[in-house]
Amino acid sequence: MIYVANSEATPGAETTVRALVDGASGLDAIEAGIRLVEKDPSIRSVGYNSWPNLLGDLELDAAMMDGDTLRTGAVGALRGFLHPVSVARAVMERLPHELLVGEGAARFAAEIGAEAAVNETEDCRAAWRRMLEANASPEQLADWPSGPLAELSMRAADPEVGRDTTVFLTHDRAGSIAAGVSTSGWAWKYPGRLGDSPLIGAGCYADTAFGAAACTGTGEMTIRASTARSVVLYMKTGMTVEEAVMEAVDDLRRLRGGLLFGVQIHAIDPHGGHKVVYAYQPKMEESLARRAASARHWFWREGMAGPELRDSERVRL
Ligand code: ASP
Repeated sequence: MIYVANSEATPGAETTVRALVDGASGLDAIEAGIRLVEKDPSIRSVGYNSWPNLLGDLELDAAMMDGDTLRTGAVGALRGFLHPVSVARAVMERLPHELLVGEGAARFAAEIGAEAAVNETEDCRAAWRRMLEANASPEQLADWPSGPLAELSMRAADPEVGRDTTVFLTHDRAGSIAAGVSTSGWAWKYPGRLGDSPLIGAGCYADTAFGAAACTGTGEMTIRASTARSVVLYMKTGMTVEEAVMEAVDDLRRLRGGLLFGVQIHAIDPHGGHKVVYAYQPKMEESLARRAASARHWFWREGMAGPELRDSERVRL
């Protein structure tokens, strides 16, 4: 058994590990852990009290994947519910679809009795108002919220602040591999923007036969490189988990233009192996020195007393 998650997983790490030890399925263990992250107001990038979009609204993304069946469930830009991960799982288990977004996702969440919530707190609103005051022109404020937002979205985007996700990977007692992710996406995103998290193959992928991978960081990059699926596919071709992750990092190096910042890749194989790498742009070196927490991850393997927060390997893109 093995568990790998990123540092944002702190409120749920123990719960997931305990569930695995007790014989729970990876999907149950992941969902239980991520639900604790989603409702914890101190985790600013996931669920309740996370990062709003340009209009000050929280649009949440989540996904789960069952490595036994390759079924997936995901929601994008979901508003008004406390546990996007559970809605994502219900998409997988109760619909013939794999991904729901926006109003349809909210309708489905209500239909299954998911817990409704106002996720926007006074803290979120205050941070959003500060962003607006610092970046919007007086004309734009006078006309708010009509008028074009594209320029503001370019100006306000600070990929080194206001970004993260929680990602969980498990190999359970039955030998099944699973993945789950949940996020608000990055702060001040253009309304309707989906990152990599709800896009299976970009933000996460799980296949019991070969392994699993999940990404945090610049979703605009991992979408372009299909990073999570690539890692698993590289393992299918015979690479070790270490080689597969480094090959996916190499794919990211080939991206030109667009938003290029950091990506953390988490991966496990079916044989007890794992690798977590934080791949960063040379332009990020200075800020990285100040942000050790952005390059750490939770790790647990059967026999360990509990999950440990470890430093992730850093590589330059
Ligand atoms: N990958 C997430 C997104 O692009 C954000 C993050 O993990 O930092 O929405």
